[in-house]
Amino acid sequence: MADLYLQPAEHPIAIGERVNRIMIKCQKTGKLVYTGFAMDAQTFEMLPIEDQDPIKCPACGQIHRWKKRDAILERESSAPPG
Ligand SMILES: [Zn+2]
Repeated sequence: MADLYLQPAEHPIAIGERVNRIMIKCQKTGKLVYTGFAMDAQTFEMLPIEDQDPIKCPACGQIHRWKKRDAILERESSAPPG
């Protein structure tokens, strides 16, 4: 008798679910900085993110406002060079 691993279909948050950090591009330095938000790609797509609280940029020290269109979902896999 085989042991089947059943995944709960209606479980809202699976432990160990992969989430990506939401980054914005610093207007001063061009670096990606963490907004303090992290979620999976699907949630990110669904959420109507508007006018978030400004964040203090760790790259340049200034305050940046950001919207969804500014947000970049951090990829876990490293992008190939080029
Ligand atoms: Zn900055």
